[in-house]
Amino acid sequence: MSVEIVFVMVGTTHTGNLGAAARAMKTMGFSRLRLVDTCAHLSAEALARSSGANDVLQEAQRCDTLQEAVADCHIVVGTSARARQLSVPLRSCRSIAEELRELSGVGSPDQTVAMVFGQERSGLSNESLDLCTRLLRIPCNPDFSSLNLGSAVQVVAYELSQSLQSIPLGAPLPQPGKWKGSTAKDSPPVPSADPDELPATSEAMEHFFEHLDRVMINTGFLDPDNPRLLRRRLRRYFESHRPLGSELAIFRGILSSVENPRKR
Ligand code: SAH
Repeated sequence: MSVEIVFVMVGTTHTGNLGAAARAMKTMGFSRLRLVDTCAHLSAEALARSSGANDVLQEAQRCDTLQEAVADCHIVVGTSARARQLSVPLRSCRSIAEELRELSGVGSPDQTVAMVFGQERSGLSNESLDLCTRLLRIPCNPDFSSLNLGSAVQVVAYELSQSLQSIPLGAPLPQPGKWKGSTAKDSPPVPSADPDELPATSEAMEHFFEHLDRVMINTGFLDPDNPRLLRRRLRRYFESHRPLGSELAIFRGILSSVENPRKR
């Protein structure tokens, strides 16, 4: 029981889609929803389309930015109907679900995973994709690959629930609020992990990118008036190989030593 899934909706424009997303999540046993720059999530239409998943909508957390919404996450999965240039490699929904199942094995430490969904028309912006450590695509007709937002949430939630929770056919109904999108509740408690041995959180990565930027500008490696693709390439590299907390501390130490070289 060590992978905590959070669904994040970015820029949703149709309030009914938020209701459909909440319904899709709840049917698969997930409940944690965060909203970034979306339309109203408690409108009559949203509540109607949620078909009784009102609690998911009512408990949804509003965040000002995607950065804030994923700050505590160790893995950030962006979803997209098409391959994007200059983003982390594209993976199928099932392969990500399987990876998460391996991470959730008994004895492994707690990790928070964000599943990020984009705007109905335009999907996720490049800036949002820059914050993702994985990019997920639901394999489908290459000539007609864009699912309705609520349907995309349903497919992803289904795959995750199959991998993480193995909800059997005809399972007894869970008590309300008991399914939190984690794995089996009756497995023995896992001792809390040393955060240094988990992938760095998104918040720690942001501090690192700011530090890296400062050093690159001060050494003259990066011209802030003409950064070209340097920042994005570096982000893509570090996000697709997100270091552990202890490894990130080494990179931060190297950057600090460049800023303040110690005389031998
Ligand atoms: N042209 C947009 C389509 C947006 S559809 C794009 O390229 O992404 C709205 C959202 O639904 C997407 O941002 C994504 O979160 C999800 N979605 C739709 N189809 C998907 C697919 N085939 N695989 C993964 N996510 C999908």
